[in-house]
Amino acid sequence: MKITLIKPTIGRLEHSLYVDEGRMEPLMLGVLAGLTPDEHEVVLHDDRMESIPYDEPTDLVAITVETYTARRAYEIASEYRERGVLVIMGGMHVSLVPEEVQQHADSIFIGDAETLWAHVLDDVKHNKLQKVYKAPPGIGQIGGVKPRRDLYKGKGYLPMSLMQFSRGCRYECNFCAVSRYFDKKHYIRRIDEVLEEIAQQDRKFIFFVDDNIASHKHALKELCQELIPMKINWISQASLDITHDKEIMKLMADSGCIGNVMGFESITPESLKDAKKVSNIRGFTNYEREIEILRDHAMQTWAAFTLGYDNDTYDSVLATMEFARKNKFTFAAFNILMPYPNTPLYEQLERENRLLYDGKWWLHPEYRFNQAAFVPTRMTSDELTRACHEAREQFNSIPSLLYRFSDVKTNLKSLWRATNFLRYALLFRKEVYKKHQMKFGLK
Ligand code: SF4
Repeated sequence: MKITLIKPTIGRLEHSLYVDEGRMEPLMLGVLAGLTPDEHEVVLHDDRMESIPYDEPTDLVAITVETYTARRAYEIASEYRERGVLVIMGGMHVSLVPEEVQQHADSIFIGDAETLWAHVLDDVKHNKLQKVYKAPPGIGQIGGVKPRRDLYKGKGYLPMSLMQFSRGCRYECNFCAVSRYFDKKHYIRRIDEVLEEIAQQDRKFIFFVDDNIASHKHALKELCQELIPMKINWISQASLDITHDKEIMKLMADSGCIGNVMGFESITPESLKDAKKVSNIRGFTNYEREIEILRDHAMQTWAAFTLGYDNDTYDSVLATMEFARKNKFTFAAFNILMPYPNTPLYEQLERENRLLYDGKWWLHPEYRFNQAAFVPTRMTSDELTRACHEAREQFNSIPSLLYRFSDVKTNLKSLWRATNFLRYALLFRKEVYKKHQMKFGLK
C-alpha cells in the first residue's frame, strides 16, 4: 500500500500564499513513517511550503491536526475524500474534540497513534478501517523506533534535528492542552535509545521537543550526564523552577544546552495565580534570581508570555515587553491567551459567556491569526490584539534586537551563538508581519 502523511499549514495571507520559513521537521510524522512496516511505501507532503498532489494515487492519507491547523486539515481531507481516498486524522486536536474531527475523516485516532499504527494499516489492507482508534498517551518510540529522517530531505527545514526525550508535564497550568491530554503525567523514553538516535543522525544541534524536559528532574540529570561526552548543542522547553536546582543547571550547561523556551507567562503574581502557574509563583521576586542564574549558565532564553488575564491591561502588556527587552532575552513570544478546547480555561470562559467566534475560533471564517478569541476584563478584545502586536513589533525592532544582541554572557558568548541569534532574530522579526492577521485555511 501507499501511505501519504500530511502536515497542514495554518492558512494564508489575504492576497498571497504563506510559506513558513521557520518550519521544523514534523517529528511525529517521521516517527509514524518509522513505525510503518517495510512492505508499504510512505510519502510526506508538507503543506507549509509545497502544494499537495491530490491526484497522486494513494491508499491512505494520514493528517496530523493541531487546533491552529484544523480548518486547513479539514479542507485537505475533503479534497481526498471527494476522490474516494480514505483519510485518518490524529494529533492533539483530535483528542481534544474527537466529535468535531470525526465529521471530516473516515477514521480518527484518539491518543498516541504509535502503539496501534501497524494495526490501523492492517485494517486498511483488509478493508476494515474502524471509525475510531484509541490508545492512551504513553512513552514515545518504544523499542527504539527511529523517525524516517530521509523523508525530510530537500524540504528546507531549519537545520536542527527534532527529538523527544519525554512527553507530558506534571503541572496543570489552566490554559495548557498538554496538561489535559497527558493528565499531568510525564512519560520518559529509555536514555540509551535516545542516545542511539542522536548518534545515528548527522547533526550536532538537537531540539528536544519535550513539553517540559524539566518535569522529572532526576531523569533530566541522567540524560545530561550521558550527553556530556557526545559534544552536541541542544535546546528544549523547560519550566522556570529548574533554576532552583544548581546541580541541574550546571549539568545542562555542561551537556551543551544553550537555552530553553520557558513559560514566564506573566510578570504579575495575580496573573500567575490565575494561570495556576505554580512553577513560577513560589518565592516570586520578579524573576530576578531566575534570570541571573540563566545568564550565569549562558542560557539563550526564549521567554514565552501569555497575555490577557483578568488583571492585564494594554499598559501591562507593554510593560511585559519592556521587561523582556530590558532583560535581553534572546527571543520572546507575546502570546494572546488562547482558549484551547477542552481546557480548564476554555470551560471557565464558556461558563462566563466570554468566548468569541461562537466558541470555535479555530474554525470561524472571520477569525484571523493572533486575534483575541475571548473578552478580557480590563480592555476590549481588539485592544488585547493590538497590545500584543505592538509588543511583538517593539521587541523585534532593530534597536531592541541590537540591544539584546549585546549580551556577552549569552548571545555574544561565541561566534556560533551570535550567528544563530542574528539568523533567528531576523527570521522571527519577519514572521511577526507575515503571520499577523493570517486567514485560517486556504479557501
Ligand atoms: S509547565 Fe508548561 S507544559 Fe506544563 S502544564 Fe504548564 S504550560 Fe503546560
